[in-house]
Amino acid sequence: MNAQLAPSPAPATLARHTVAVAHGDGIGPEITDAVLHVLRAADCPIDFAPVRMGEQAYLAGDSAGVPAEAWDVLARHRVLLKGPMTTPQGGGYKSVNVTLRKTLGLYANVRPCVAYHPYVYSAHPGMDVVIVRENEEDTYGGIEHRQTAEVAQCLKLITRPGCERIVRHAFEYAVRHGRRKVTCLTKDNIMKMTDGLFHRVFDEVAREYPQIAADHRIIDIGAARLATRPKDFDVVVTLNLHGDILSDIAAEMAGSIGMAASSNVGLHGAMFEAVHGSAPDIAGKNIANPSGMLLAAVMMLLHLGERAAAERIHNAWLCTLEDGIHTPDVFNESTSKRRVGTREFAHAVAERLGREPRHLQPVRYGAFDEAASAPVERIEAPAAAPEPAKTCDGVDIFLDWHPAQRDPEALAAQLRAACPDGLRLAVITNRGVKVWPHGHPDTFCSDHWRCRFVGEQGEVSPRAILALMQKLVDAGLPPIKSENLYRFDGERGYSVAQGE
Ligand code: NAD
Repeated sequence: MNAQLAPSPAPATLARHTVAVAHGDGIGPEITDAVLHVLRAADCPIDFAPVRMGEQAYLAGDSAGVPAEAWDVLARHRVLLKGPMTTPQGGGYKSVNVTLRKTLGLYANVRPCVAYHPYVYSAHPGMDVVIVRENEEDTYGGIEHRQTAEVAQCLKLITRPGCERIVRHAFEYAVRHGRRKVTCLTKDNIMKMTDGLFHRVFDEVAREYPQIAADHRIIDIGAARLATRPKDFDVVVTLNLHGDILSDIAAEMAGSIGMAASSNVGLHGAMFEAVHGSAPDIAGKNIANPSGMLLAAVMMLLHLGERAAAERIHNAWLCTLEDGIHTPDVFNESTSKRRVGTREFAHAVAERLGREPRHLQPVRYGAFDEAASAPVERIEAPAAAPEPAKTCDGVDIFLDWHPAQRDPEALAAQLRAACPDGLRLAVITNRGVKVWPHGHPDTFCSDHWRCRFVGEQGEVSPRAILALMQKLVDAGLPPIKSENLYRFDGERGYSVAQGE
């Protein structure tokens, strides 16, 4: 193991840095204090600008959990060391983590998952996998709607520029860190348009990096293989939700969720945090492992160009593990010597500054050549393809229709009666499955219907779609939403119905 924690890009070293620090919620304050203790003991040339955000800010009246003063501090310093923050489940305020990542354009979430066996037990000794998770798109837009009594939906948005950036970031990471392979994980057998776009872009970008092996697996078997044969993986790149789930699993497999670090990197700034959350179940007990956030601080030091400090702290941390000084989450009778709390662990790391591990491989960040390649963002991407010709085949109209008898034939009859000239009803689906024409009697029908109308001759105009909607309203079938059916350079830009 050597420079696996180094994020990209690494700007030139400055004499002294100021970094915004958010202590976070739950175990956040105690692990942040522990990390700051080590950074100060290592005499890092860093001043810390505290920012209040998260649950405390929300409870103090800021509905988004990030007050204006916090945005000002972030805009000034551009680097944030962040404790974990609580996000209420189901209702309440939106995730501050997601708000920060998206507002600041921190598109790449890099999560190294490394085993430190036998000092920290792992069923997979030698595991050394880096998950590169897309950080801004996917269902994390949180664009959700309840459209009928029975149905809620979440929009999954994937963009070509977003895919290109994250995939190129993964390959650049592999090149700079001497990695051999990048594996792409998607569910493009089902989500052919969204995950399919990610996979297509992966194949395109992979061709620019012939020196790095590239493969793709469907996420379900890919995740199963990662869980059982992590040595088959090196760098993994995937979409936001897949990466979120996968990186927690990989962190636990390596040893403990408490030990995994992450960098969130964008064009204009970076944020460093542990992979884990605010762990309310152990908050305030001085038993949380501060290692994930400490290793995130090591990534931050590398980002700031402070390689010597990063190396000293990382090696002192490895010594601490090797000396058997362990927090309860990784304590085990055979290799641990002292069970310590959060504070005591940090003190043990600070006492070992200047020492190197004897059995675990020491890190050598001096050898990490930050100038070896240009920052990812400055890499010349191939010229964008010309704007495709966009034509419209028709429209999907969604209806809230809930008579006592939910008979698709009856709905089709009403829709066909209301359909203006030039359009025809092509198919009705319920939860994506075709129910008309020739539906199956066993298919469950909710109150949410997708009714596809297509042009009888060539392109369908916006006026024709409006006329259809007007007719449907007049017929007592008001649309609850619509999606136009576009082609791009003649290629269909919408999925066919399941069973169509
Ligand atoms: P969690 O990661 O906080 O905790 C999961 C389990 O791991 C708990 O049993 C916890 O005790 C343990 N654990 C986590 N960190 C640990 C550490 N450093 N040392 C020892 N044990 C540790 O996940 P959760 O319980 O699902 O989420 C709690 C809250 O954190 C939620 O509000 C969630 O939205 C939020 N969250 C925040 C972030 C972030 O700030 N980046 C990430 C994930 C979850």
